[in-house]
Amino acid sequence: MHPWLAQRTELFDSSGIRKVFDLAAKLENPINLSIGQPDFPAPQEVKQAAIDAINADKNGYSLTQGIPPLREALEQQVREDLGQPDRRLIVTSGTSGALALALLAMVDPGDEVIGFDPYFVMYPALTGMAGGVFVPIDTYPDFRLDLAKVEAAITDRTKLILLNSPSNPSGVVATEDEVRGLAELAAKHNVALLSDEIYRPFCYDAPLASPARFNDQTLVVDAFSKSHALTGWRVGWAHGPAEVIEKMTMLQQYTFVCAPHPLQWGALAAMDVSIQPYADKYRERRDHLVAGLRDAGYTVPQPGGAFYAFPKVPAKYASATEFVAQAIERELLIIPGNIFSAHDSHFRISYAAGMETIDRGLEVLRELA
Ligand code: PLP
Repeated sequence: MHPWLAQRTELFDSSGIRKVFDLAAKLENPINLSIGQPDFPAPQEVKQAAIDAINADKNGYSLTQGIPPLREALEQQVREDLGQPDRRLIVTSGTSGALALALLAMVDPGDEVIGFDPYFVMYPALTGMAGGVFVPIDTYPDFRLDLAKVEAAITDRTKLILLNSPSNPSGVVATEDEVRGLAELAAKHNVALLSDEIYRPFCYDAPLASPARFNDQTLVVDAFSKSHALTGWRVGWAHGPAEVIEKMTMLQQYTFVCAPHPLQWGALAAMDVSIQPYADKYRERRDHLVAGLRDAGYTVPQPGGAFYAFPKVPAKYASATEFVAQAIERELLIIPGNIFSAHDSHFRISYAAGMETIDRGLEVLRELA
């Protein structure tokens, strides 16, 4: 290892997802069901608004907390959703930026951050970067929240509980009862609650219940990345208690400075674009993929949102890593579950791909089963 590098190597392991992407680049016509972003193009009027902003020379720094029209429009939307006038909001560099600022603002060295396994890959890494200790709660086999397990995991060092619903990688959506229970538990133990709602518009069976509805201290992070196919733009937001948002604003000044300025104007235009037609399309694909997987004999906990499913690898394989290696030999790109989990028993399959690709993938998965 280069002597200049930090010793905390667990934080800097090259992500397994990226390894699959590198492989994908080498295959001529891969069946790519590893994708973590929408396959529809960004809306034309949104692109035009960003181009107009660039041409109008809105290319300098913006206010740290975001351009006022975007911040005010988002605040208005949050007020309509939650009716909590004291919430404050900051525009961030995507949800990742919001997560980084939130953990830096809230976690002291040694603090414990509870998350749910399987978890989004950034959570343990960001917790570690903030000096915290990630405490994963096992949610196998159905990926439901077990409140008794959460309560048992709370110690006097617990600072924060991280919820991601709909979940990456499982697509599972927490029920209103689960969310309310978690929100009340956090309040009872005076533990912070952070809700990553980046897949909020992609809920197919029932609208997302945000814990912020039941616990007004909840910090919510979200973005335009997935909703409007703008993952490369890096425009997101966070809303929550005023003091937490103020601290995050200060930290944004010292790190990301501001979300990309002209793209914030594009994001403002995105707020007028309904993405329901895309959500409807993803619902159809979800139904098709899950039916196909179950028909082939796979066990799949019902994914109610996002664009992922997280099936169990058939028993004849020693691990998900071995199973995924065999899938890749057949040009099918999926992600082994151990990237997101202490278990190496499941795989993430994305349906942010056309029906034809999904059908080609199902064919390989039938062979492998
Ligand atoms: N949170 C979750 C659960 C995600 O799946 C992702 C991206 O895959 C992010 C956050 C990062 O979002 P952004 O691209 O807005 O930084």
